Amino acid sequence: MKELKILYLYPDILELYGDFGNIQVLRYRLEQRGIKAIIDSYSIGDIAPDFTKYDLVFAGGGADQEQGILSQDLLKHKDNIKEAIDNGVFFLLICGAYQLFGKYYKGVEGNIIPGLEIFDYYTEAIEDRKKRCIGNIVIEANLNGNLTKIIGFENHGGQTYGVSSPFGNVLFGNGNQFGAHDEGFFLNNVIATYLHGPLLSKNPELADFIIKYCLDRKYDENITLEDLDDNFENLCRNQLLDRFLNVS
Ligand code: GLN
Repeated sequence: MKELKILYLYPDILELYGDFGNIQVLRYRLEQRGIKAIIDSYSIGDIAPDFTKYDLVFAGGGADQEQGILSQDLLKHKDNIKEAIDNGVFFLLICGAYQLFGKYYKGVEGNIIPGLEIFDYYTEAIEDRKKRCIGNIVIEANLNGNLTKIIGFENHGGQTYGVSSPFGNVLFGNGNQFGAHDEGFFLNNVIATYLHGPLLSKNPELADFIIKYCLDRKYDENITLEDLDDNFENLCRNQLLDRFLNVS
């Protein structure tokens, strides 16, 4: 039986926006195909994981205060995380986690939260708590040559700059800054995005794109994933795309 090892970072701290749902979707889509999902979690005080031993690392979003709390702990793992990324381990990072893999995150209070500096982008929140990018968002992402509409919900004060390779182009909503044309960051085996939702529940194609990448890398194959019944997911997507873009 094939299996994938998933590391879920800071589930007790980066869990303000329900991004745990992405872990549930990954587990479901793996188990429905008879693939074992081994899901470990790591948070402050736990034994340090070896990031290189996992197929997929996931981290969700959180408030400025929580980001400040975990930043120092995250920085301890910088070299091992960098090694895992360089080795091809897939990283899926949502919002607050996205921000912390860049140079820094300047919070709404003006405080600088140091990031891992693995990527060159940086994030600064507008020092007005009322000024946040909040609402539904649709982007178009290139998944191995397939232009795919990705639907989500954004809720961030942080404005991210200096993104060299965005996750997608904004079709509806804000993105990396208010009124931006680009959203998130996507480079090889790292997808970092502002899209909550949870992200993968509204985007089965993206979930399978990530699963296939991880299986192909682990088993050195070009695996064809068995189709799942995504009828309800697609009905929901069509409703949302029609509402936001007048297309479906
Ligand atoms: N606290 C960060 C911000 O407000 C991240 C928010 C989030 O994770 N949704 O931009």
